[in-house]
Amino acid sequence: MKDLVERRNGLLREFEKCSDFVRGSINSVCAKCNRARCICETKTSRRAYRLTYKNSEQKTRIVYIQESRLPKIRKMIVNYSKSRKIMEQIIETNIEIFKKETKH
Ligand SMILES: [Zn+2]
Repeated sequence: MKDLVERRNGLLREFEKCSDFVRGSINSVCAKCNRARCICETKTSRRAYRLTYKNSEQKTRIVYIQESRLPKIRKMIVNYSKSRKIMEQIIETNIEIFKKETKH
């Protein structure tokens, strides 16, 4: 039991390390016409980057991202999948703890 609680505490520390997370995906559009496939007569290579995600009401939200901040937002997306995995492990650990509690 003590082992399990320690395991959970360890997982919570891991979870905290990647708590800087966001859900969503990054895509780019033409900076001028705002479309993924440019329709401008005079083509520009300038792209605008954005994060698309669904909020708690399942509404799609778009956040524009400066190109210089792409590495940061990519890391935050990776943190999201890490935190999800850790959350699953915490659930498994909590089930083990719950089962042990019932035996007493
Ligand atoms: Zn365009």
